[in-house]
Order: sequence, then structure tokens, then C-alpha cells
Amino acid sequence: MALVLFNTLTGEKEQLRPVHDREVRTYHCGPTVHDFAHVGNFRSSIIYDILRRTLEYAGYHVEQVMNITDIDDKTIKRSQEEGVPLSSLTLRYENYFLADLRHLNIKVPEHLPHATHHIGGMVVIIEKLLRDGFAYKADDGIYFDITKSKGYGTLAGIKLESETQSRISNDEYDKKNVRDFALWKFWTETDGENGFDASFGRGRPGWHIECSAMAMSKLGETIDIHSGGVDLIFPHHTNEIAQSEAVTGKKFVNNWLHIEFLMVDGQKMSKSLGNFITIRNIVERGFSPIAYRYFVLGAHYRTKANFTWEALAGAQTALQRLKDHMGPEVGEEDADYRQQFLECILDDLDMPRALALAWEVAKDQNLSLATRTATLLDFDRVLGLGLKPQKIVEVPDEIKQLVAERTEARQAKNWAKSDELRDKINDLGWVVLDTESGPRISRK
Ligand SMILES: [Zn+2]
Repeated sequence: MALVLFNTLTGEKEQLRPVHDREVRTYHCGPTVHDFAHVGNFRSSIIYDILRRTLEYAGYHVEQVMNITDIDDKTIKRSQEEGVPLSSLTLRYENYFLADLRHLNIKVPEHLPHATHHIGGMVVIIEKLLRDGFAYKADDGIYFDITKSKGYGTLAGIKLESETQSRISNDEYDKKNVRDFALWKFWTETDGENGFDASFGRGRPGWHIECSAMAMSKLGETIDIHSGGVDLIFPHHTNEIAQSEAVTGKKFVNNWLHIEFLMVDGQKMSKSLGNFITIRNIVERGFSPIAYRYFVLGAHYRTKANFTWEALAGAQTALQRLKDHMGPEVGEEDADYRQQFLECILDDLDMPRALALAWEVAKDQNLSLATRTATLLDFDRVLGLGLKPQKIVEVPDEIKQLVAERTEARQAKNWAKSDELRDKINDLGWVVLDTESGPRISRK
């Protein structure tokens, strides 16, 4: 069975055909490390992790790249505001980002290239684009001439004909076309100590060229899957295609995967609306980052998701219940369920269906507890929810007695007494969960 993914470039679901047989090479646009990343960014990172885990589950070897943008307008501005060197500012936020990846149980990609370590490769690409007539020098930088690019805008569904009519002479940027984009920005005083020497003049790279250079340096000229948020389709990914294909003459990416927006209370997240939420905020409110991961899996990556604190609370409760369904012994996985699971995940990473299937397993009384536990553990290789077999613990007689009294109270529909006994059990450090097969006692 092969993985089928929706390809933004063609607008269709397509079967994955890796360039290098059983090895899949993927690139994901990573963070610009000038501040904390927000939960919307991490929705993308979680889906990228799901892609990786799905490929591994299906038997592929994966080479994953997530870049770190450690030089651009925002990073330079922030470092100047704080009066710290650019590299110490970016290292600080990179470390926060990597810690959040771990908290979310995201496997760290093989390659985390930094833009500032790949300047040489960017300069070589720009030199070739200048030589071949795809780029030109303006007063403030080197620009890519989009009229020279075959099929510019296909990914975003933009037709260039209508754009060329709107050509204007832009005094500020001295560009030939408003949509021509900067490959290199010449150094100005506001850049301070941040600049690199190049044959075409001292300066720093534009954001788009950073990704093309890092992607091709780590993965080759044609990549199997390139992903990112839908907000990157235009101009970022559109421009990555134009410059990469101009320099190699080859197709840059076979499959483009885009993750939809995360809304917060039905609105777009932004600092100005005050609804900018980070993983730290989630932890401060007493939630586990894995509850956020569970929440993300509940919506397909191609649909908008709406974050609310109530929804996160629901996810946390559901996650705990799923964990409570794990038994102490691990038996054989159920082959039928495993097959169904594979079908879900290989169908465009259908996580809502995969999660629903996990619940079906958890509740299937036709399977032994050991089989259910083994099957859920197997699913968790992809879901990444940190499911574990329950440790066997000796329940003290006192607790057993209280649980038995509570069961009696419930049978007599004496809810007040039942609640009172539950509180007493909790106070003694134990939790009782009512399952189809009777009460289950665990450590708090
Ligand atoms: Zn990028």
C-alpha cells in the first residue's frame, strides 16, 4: 500500500512515488527564531511529524529537513531592540522551539539547517541566476525577474498575464515588476554588523532563497514532499519554485503539502488581537502539551481547526481516558485493526479517522486487554500520544474496600454517597474509573 497525499500543485490526491525508491526526502519551512512560536506554528510541526511517522510505519526511510531562519528583517530588528548579538537572540528562541518540539513528542528531523550557515550556497545560486538572466541588480538588492520563470504562480493559481499589465515603476524598490522578489538585500546601516560579502555586493539573503538553498543542499535538486502552512503558498513557496527551477532546470518538488490555519475562538491568531497562544501558555493553564497534540489530531490537516480552551480541556480528558484503557500486559496486535489503521493514515494522513479507530480498539470487548493494549501501542507509533502499558500496582485493602462500597452506592443510585467515596479515594492518592468491565483503580 502506498501513501496518497493531496498535492497543492495539481489539486488532486496522488500516490507518493519517491525519487529514491524507499527513501522519502521531505522539507518543511521551519521557524523564524525571533520570538516564541505559537500553537498555529506547532499545528504544522505536529502534522509534519505525523507525515514522518506515517512514512516510517509504512516502511520507508525518511530524510527530514526543517530549517531555522536565523536572519531576516524581524530577527535583526529584535536583536537591535534588545541590544544583543543576532546569534544569541536566535539561539535563545531556537532552544525554546526545540524544547517545545520535545514537549509535543515531535521527533526532531535529521537536519535542522541554519540560514546563516548556508550563505555560500545561496550566493552560488544567485550568481548563476544573474549569469543566466533570471535575476538583475537594482539599487537596493538583487531581484528575481518573474517574467523569466516558466509557469510562475501555478502553485497558487496565479496567472502572470494579468500581473504583467500591472507593472509599475516602483521608486522605492526600483523593481521591474511589483512581484519581483529580493534574492539578496544590500547592506544598509540599519543592518549593523549583520552582513555577508558576495561577488555582487555585501548584504544578506532574502527569505525565499534561504529555503531553496538549504533544501537542495540537504536533499538534492528534486524533493519528494515540501510542506508548510497554507499562508506560505504565496509568495514564499511560489518563489522557491521559480528560483530553484530556474537554477536547476528540474522540477523542484513533486508533492506540495499545505496545512490549514488554526483559528482561535473563530478568529485568526495575532498579537494585536491578544489571542496569540504559545505552548508555555498551555502549560501555565495546567494542560499537557500532549493534550494539544491530541486536539490537533482531531481535525484533518486540510481543514481549518478552531482552538478554544474548552476544546483543549476536552482533548485532555479524552487523552487521559484513552490512557486509562491501557492494560498492564502487552499481547499480540490485532491484524485487522492494524490494516484498517494503515488505510486511514495512508489516505492523506486521515488522523481523525485514525483516532476514532483507536477508540474503537480501546472499547472492543471482543479483544483481550493485552491485545487492545498492544494494538494501541502500535497505533501510537504514529499518533505519538505517549501511550504506555499501565504499571501493575498493589491496591491497598483500604482502597479496595472503599471502591466496593462505592460500587454498592452506585448500584443503589445513591450518587451523593458515591461522590463522597470517590473524593475520599482521591484524597488517599487513588483514582477510580468506571469502565464497561467494572471499576478500574489506578494511582493518581
Ligand atoms: Zn521556507
